[in-house]
Amino acid sequence: MMRCKKCGGKAAVQMKQHNLALCREHFSEWFVEQTERTIHKYRMFKRDERVLVAVSGGKDSLALWDVLAKLGYETVGLYIHLGIEEAEGYSDHSLALAQAFAAARGLRLEVTHVPERYGESIPQMAARTARGRHRACSVCGVVKRHSMNEAAMRLGCGVLATGHNLDDEAAVLFNNTLSWSVDMLLRQNPVLPESPGFPRKVKPLCRFYERESAAYAILNGIEYVYEECPHAVGSTSLVNKALLNQLEQQSPGSKLRFYSTFLKAKAQGAFASGAEGNAEPPPLQFCPSCGQPTTTAGLCLFCRLVDGSAPQE
Ligand code: SF4
Ligand code: ZN
Ligand code: ZN
Repeated sequence: MMRCKKCGGKAAVQMKQHNLALCREHFSEWFVEQTERTIHKYRMFKRDERVLVAVSGGKDSLALWDVLAKLGYETVGLYIHLGIEEAEGYSDHSLALAQAFAAARGLRLEVTHVPERYGESIPQMAARTARGRHRACSVCGVVKRHSMNEAAMRLGCGVLATGHNLDDEAAVLFNNTLSWSVDMLLRQNPVLPESPGFPRKVKPLCRFYERESAAYAILNGIEYVYEECPHAVGSTSLVNKALLNQLEQQSPGSKLRFYSTFLKAKAQGAFASGAEGNAEPPPLQFCPSCGQPTTTAGLCLFCRLVDGSAPQE
């Protein structure tokens, strides 16, 4: 039997990459402490800042919200209802889980209901405007980004926290490295500084493996949506994750090394412009309709998407 390194009790989670096994109680304690360490290490936010937590109803975002609340940070949750009806009402189901989570802990959850607010669901917007495979995801990315910025500004949150874990970050890194997208590599950071019209964006779970955030959620009785969004099927991100998992099996710790040595190399100036994460590209102007910063002239991409004048891709 594997034993907990702290108390010698029965281990619940084994983390080969850290050469560490912990029992239920000590694993949860470790997870909370490590999150706080990451928040400090990358100077994500301070006690007096209000944090908007983007909540999808999945294990990562609910685990993140749970930990931030336990650590005593002031948080507001944001659920963006995308109107995805496939997979037995995916959006309704994940909203219900997010609401149950918030209610049980007395936390405040804001909901942006995309179909009610803009008259169309993500799949409907995609069918109208986008071409190509995974078209829902390209539309979804624009809408989520807009909605998160909008909610952060409206609710007075200077910080937006998302539940991205190490598997997510390593998959993105792998993709950006394959194409050597230096711009994207420069912007891939645990913290993206605030700029006019944009909150600071932080990823406090970026050093945890996906199985660790799942373990935290399960061991803490958090009910979350198990299924991936039906539109994620066959995505590059899932393919990359599967590849990296194979690598991890052969050589435990390789995912963590891949990501952390990248951050270290960048901090040492490997990509010329150096340590601090570049902020959002400087906006040239503000959208005349929604007021968010935009790099294009006239209406921003989101507003063109919603009013029907934007052909995507
Ligand atoms: Fe949106 Fe695509 Fe993610 Fe589904 S898989 S939530 S459609 S980006
Ligand atoms: Zn223990
Ligand atoms: Zn706009």
